[in-house]
Amino acid sequence: MGSFQRTRRREGLITVEEAQSRVLAEVAALPPEDVPLPEAHGRVLREDIIAPEDVPCADNSAMDGYAVRAADVAHASESQPAMLRVVGDIAADGDPSVNVSPGMAVRIMTGGAIPTGADAVVQVEQTDAGRDEVRVFRAVDAGTNVRRRGEDMRRGDVVLRAGLPIGAGELGVIANVRRHAVRAGRKLSVAILSTGDEIVSGRIANSNSHALAALTRDAGCEPRVLPPVADDREATKRVLITALESDVVVSSGGVSQGAYDFVKDALDEIGADTKFWQVLMKPGKPIIFSRARERPIFGLPGNPVSCIVGFLLFVRPALRKMMGQTSNLLLPAVNARAAVPFDSRGDRRMYFRVQVVAQDGGLVAYPARAQGSGVSTSMVGANGLGWLEIGSTRVDTGSSLPVLLFAPVLSELWRTNG
Ligand code: AMP
Ligand code: MG
Repeated sequence: MGSFQRTRRREGLITVEEAQSRVLAEVAALPPEDVPLPEAHGRVLREDIIAPEDVPCADNSAMDGYAVRAADVAHASESQPAMLRVVGDIAADGDPSVNVSPGMAVRIMTGGAIPTGADAVVQVEQTDAGRDEVRVFRAVDAGTNVRRRGEDMRRGDVVLRAGLPIGAGELGVIANVRRHAVRAGRKLSVAILSTGDEIVSGRIANSNSHALAALTRDAGCEPRVLPPVADDREATKRVLITALESDVVVSSGGVSQGAYDFVKDALDEIGADTKFWQVLMKPGKPIIFSRARERPIFGLPGNPVSCIVGFLLFVRPALRKMMGQTSNLLLPAVNARAAVPFDSRGDRRMYFRVQVVAQDGGLVAYPARAQGSGVSTSMVGANGLGWLEIGSTRVDTGSSLPVLLFAPVLSELWRTNG
């Protein structure tokens, strides 16, 4: 029979903020690599992107219509349209070398380069759309409907900074400066291991390995799911050593003070340097953060909810920092109106899984029906972690509840369980 685990002094209870800052202080960006653009999505940019030329490269039309000299249409109106002779036609990729002299116009499509002589574009809707001659019914100022050369980017501008996640908008800009590959953070390999005799036997489904793999992919990394390991010290040591071939190790279960919780011991015995073991939060008080062979190791609790909350609060920020992200590592906090009362014992920071919904110009937090740390359905549809601070035992209906958002605000409530 084993005995209960004891806490050593420097592994004692610390706050969530202290734990997060210890994690972030311990991890650094790994070396980047060059990746082709189609593979860059979801990575972190690791170089400043500088515009090699002006974009757009020439003044061009923002509308389908006619390139004109503003002075020619200065007095145009519905009753007294200006009559102009149409002397050319410029498609989006057309030749702009025609000259617009006084009294003339050129038919032009959106994106077409503004021909010399013209200084404005009249929208086709404000003309009679004539072919050889056009009637213009409205005056325009010089510059109207003209996109200026360099309006988007000027040659030499830093258009993207290293450290930024590469999403759709950023990819567009990188493509716009004619890059085919870009320096980006590596997709980290994250070893995911589950502990527990009941998981090995299959009596309890290994839901954590699926949830952790999905969270890992959401963080832009590559999960490496290892077979579950029994509650056995030697077996745990062996699987940890295999897991350390990855960049990061995330385990679930076996970190409490039970007689069969061997993760902590196994880490000690392979020479890992454990930075903390317990965090003042619920769910998820026992959480190990350790390192061995320069690799961070996260020992999350086995309860499915504690496991996901621990990943969101501690693992995800570390992964993003290691990929090279330089800001926005922690989840954003917002205030939402409580849809029902939220209660806590007040001894630890208490996190609630909530749906944050945009309503009447504000945010409203709806709790999952049951909040136990083993209640996996409490995560369904959730996009936020509402919390009550230590010492605070209640937030009443309609009062302000702070919430960490881990997914976008909802436009309406998901009808989930119950
Ligand atoms: P532990 O943290 O090992 O004490 O486990 C706490 C609870 O979480 C127990 O009820 C376990 O059965 C459950 N649990 C542990 N590992 C997993 C897993 N991989 N998937 C689902 N539940 C788990
Ligand atoms: Mg266990």
